[in-house]
Amino acid sequence: MVGSPLLVDVVELQRRTGTRRTLNAEVELDDMAVGERSVVDGRVTVDLVLEAVTEGIVAAGSLAGVSRVPCRRCLEDVDSAFRLDVREIFERSPSEGETWPIDDERVDLRPVIRELALLALPLAPLCRSDCEGPDAERFPARPEPEDAVEAEPVRDARWAVLDSLTFDE
Ligand SMILES: [Zn+2]
Repeated sequence: MVGSPLLVDVVELQRRTGTRRTLNAEVELDDMAVGERSVVDGRVTVDLVLEAVTEGIVAAGSLAGVSRVPCRRCLEDVDSAFRLDVREIFERSPSEGETWPIDDERVDLRPVIRELALLALPLAPLCRSDCEGPDAERFPARPEPEDAVEAEPVRDARWAVLDSLTFDE
């Protein structure tokens, strides 16, 4: 973790309001996944300007990478390039859920990038608009064992998307 370009010393930056510092880096972060949805290799291209403002530091610019999410019909991985605009504020006394902390005269961009990138992952993409679902030869439907037949539970329509994400085991 020592020497990460995303852990930025802001002592110099904070000497005068309006001082800027650019940060361009290609980084690989851990924990860049939510279930089956992920950022490929945790790799993110960071293109930010940090600027000293009266209340702290503003980080503005963009993040880019490639998301990998299973197609909601056939479950094949769908890779898509993403690019996000960023404008986040760091303060000595951050507001929960709104701004990020300045600790030890440093700002840590890693949790910021992780949160923004994971929030932007597609929820349930299609690999192509006419995807027809699993290939019957590669993913044959299994017959239900007779004694496992039970009354179908009442389903909330809001969960229908999740049903379509379920993997056959
Ligand atoms: Zn598909």
